[in-house]
Amino acid sequence: THFGFRTVRKDDKETLVGEVFRNVADKYDVMNDFMSGGIHRLWKDHFISSIAPSPTTQLLDVAGGTGDIAFRFLDYIKSRHGGLGSANVKVVDINPAMLQVGRERALKMGYPADSPHISFHEGNAEHLVDIPDASVDAYTIAFGIRNCTNVDQVVREAYRVLKPGGRFTCLEFSSVHNPLIRGVYDLYSFQVIPVLGQLVANDRASYEYLVESIRKFPPQIEFARMIQDAGFTVVGQGWEDLTFGVAAIHSGFKV
Ligand code: SAM
Repeated sequence: THFGFRTVRKDDKETLVGEVFRNVADKYDVMNDFMSGGIHRLWKDHFISSIAPSPTTQLLDVAGGTGDIAFRFLDYIKSRHGGLGSANVKVVDINPAMLQVGRERALKMGYPADSPHISFHEGNAEHLVDIPDASVDAYTIAFGIRNCTNVDQVVREAYRVLKPGGRFTCLEFSSVHNPLIRGVYDLYSFQVIPVLGQLVANDRASYEYLVESIRKFPPQIEFARMIQDAGFTVVGQGWEDLTFGVAAIHSGFKV
């Protein structure tokens, strides 16, 4: 720590991220609600609707953590189509503690450990070693890609595992452009979030890291370019802003 700023070397990032999510795994879901005032739920619901999965969709949810996206995916198909059919989601995350929370949630929701619809796997978004080329219909990554060391490698790996016609969709914090709203948002991020992290989770450093990682992530247009550089075809500008750009959904098709 140097004048309150932690400088992170690239090769240390994976270790640091591991530590952060090990620290927050138990309280992760409660803290999300608390910090975002529940808005992350609306973003995630919208994210799933924009993918519009069907009872045949094979989804790979990377950095899937405690299963928020996976459970929404299954709920959406059940409520829209009246049943799950052969729908399947594989949740991949680098952190065993997050996956464990996800597995327990799955059991509570009535999905056994050997469910044909959902499974949890340890793995790195940059090298999805157990996922064959052109094997999934849809790839999602929500609030995970900014934690990865090589973002462009993650996007290229997504391209590799998708079937032709498949779609990459990413939900991530992004950049607020309206100066007034940006002022309020900065105040909240830098002044309020670390204090809430201290008070509620007794862990100020992890929440300082989260805020810092949001600031370092490339703005909408740059990330959209990275997606195209990996080979994806984007529709329109390639992203949709949510809540003034606090978050954004980027997507691209492998044609
Ligand atoms: N997708 C979930 C959600 O939206 O609630 C979890 C998001 S959580 C903020 C970020 C997740 O990314 C953590 O579970 C962390 O372990 C995972 N992660 C970080 N780096 C990763 C990597 N290189 N490969 C796979 N997962 C990673």
